[in-house]
Amino acid sequence: MTPPLVVAVDIGGTKTAAATVTCDAQVGPIQHVPTPAAAGPEAVIASVTELIRTVLDGACDRDGSAPPLQGIAVATAGMVDTRTGTIVAANSTFPGWPGTAVGKRLGAIFETRVRVQHDVAAHGAGEAWVGAGRGATCALMVAVGTGVGSAIVLEGRSRGGAHHAAGEMGHMPSRLAAGMPCPCGRTGHLEAIASGPAIASRYRALHGGDAQTPAVLAQADAGEPGAVGVVRDAATALGEAIAGSVTVLDPEVVILGGGIVRASQTWLTTVRQSVHHELVAPLREIPLRLSSLGGAAPLLGAARAVWQASDDDMPAGGRW
Ligand SMILES: [Zn+2]
Repeated sequence: MTPPLVVAVDIGGTKTAAATVTCDAQVGPIQHVPTPAAAGPEAVIASVTELIRTVLDGACDRDGSAPPLQGIAVATAGMVDTRTGTIVAANSTFPGWPGTAVGKRLGAIFETRVRVQHDVAAHGAGEAWVGAGRGATCALMVAVGTGVGSAIVLEGRSRGGAHHAAGEMGHMPSRLAAGMPCPCGRTGHLEAIASGPAIASRYRALHGGDAQTPAVLAQADAGEPGAVGVVRDAATALGEAIAGSVTVLDPEVVILGGGIVRASQTWLTTVRQSVHHELVAPLREIPLRLSSLGGAAPLLGAARAVWQASDDDMPAGGRW
């Protein structure tokens, strides 16, 4: 008999990915479509629905019979109420996305269980399942790209928090970002100095030109002093925030992911130095590992929530 499958979907600002995921973390072929984020939530739901159907069609046997669907898993940009699968907040890339009952909508269409998570939380849960954090009871995931996000994964489950904001590391105060405007409207937050766009805009403000983030990171690795300064400040600020989080949580491992982590040795070395410099002795040897699953990580982590929910639904007193 064909084993049951979860269809996992990762809704990003520019593209949406989806694939089947089995209970032992086997990921099927990953399908991609553009995310019609600017067209509003109805367009996004319609696009996701079609993509899920495509993945399900691809998972059919040769005789056309579909494998049992265990549920649908969604990783998405924006803050998520994981209990209801509703979007709580999102940035301007996703107009109208807050308030969208993604879980209920997809559950009604496909008549199955749906679990929805923030994409960084799903990324962390995936890495903690079969990636860089495999085997860790408590892992801290930190993702740096267009923003700075993090996730706390405890026993395989990401923690959303009382206000669905756990892991919003980008909005921690940072001494190095004092006075700098943050996308949230306040000043002095980590994201204002440490995100990819912040690195580029700070470089341009200090040194002129029109360099984008990859160029600034490359120039830093080539030793250009202006770029070295900006990249080191960004990495130092991030390292201090990671050290603060590690001191509170005492996780077994920190996983670094996102677009920047493999783009600059200067950046990575400085993050490591900054974390090491700030931590008290018992915490100093905490491993800082790079994420290892690439684009499959959020799909795996989102899917794991469905598999774990299936476990939870079993009657108390026994499992079979
Ligand atoms: Zn902020």
